[in-house]
Amino acid sequence: MDMNRRHFFRVSSAGLVGSSLVALGFSPIAALAETRNFKLARTTETRNTCPYCSVGCGIIMYGLGDKAKNVASEIIHIEGDPDHPVNRGTLCPKGAGLLDFVHSANRLKYPEIREPGSKEWKRVSWDEAMGRLVKMMKADRDANFIAKNAKGETVNRWLSTGMLAASASSNESGYLTHKVMRSMGMLVFDNQARV
Ligand code: SF4
Repeated sequence: MDMNRRHFFRVSSAGLVGSSLVALGFSPIAALAETRNFKLARTTETRNTCPYCSVGCGIIMYGLGDKAKNVASEIIHIEGDPDHPVNRGTLCPKGAGLLDFVHSANRLKYPEIREPGSKEWKRVSWDEAMGRLVKMMKADRDANFIAKNAKGETVNRWLSTGMLAASASSNESGYLTHKVMRSMGMLVFDNQARV
């Protein structure tokens, strides 16, 4: 295309006006493009502890739903808690994959019981599960509690049942669990958070 001096200035000034409008935010492309929403907008933050290991890293879970009865809530994102003194926002690969654990089809969400001799697991209520647990513990303790040893010395031992406390327990709940179990004479007691 032939371009004389007058044409050159006309095209250049048109280009200059166009680029100035773009610089001022009037780009037709920018105007047509929709702003992407920040994915964590409208979420609720809930602080928690990674359940996997005894390191006990702090996490933040981001959930959708305002907790109203007719609204289904859903956790859509989990990340390390930057304010947590243990991990300062970091997570190992297991912790970083917690969202898959939360939404896994295989995740156990309710107490289940397999009766003696049965191959089937059946779902029971929390009340039933706790009630059975308490009754079985009492029956076992009544049958096996050792008040005195062979020398006649008081020992108050209950050795036939053990307790495994959760790694994500706080110091306070760990202390209380320890006190309750020891007060019943239980010696077989461990807590995964023994770091
Ligand atoms: S994020 Fe990793 S290191 Fe931290 S508690 Fe979970 S499994 Fe343990």
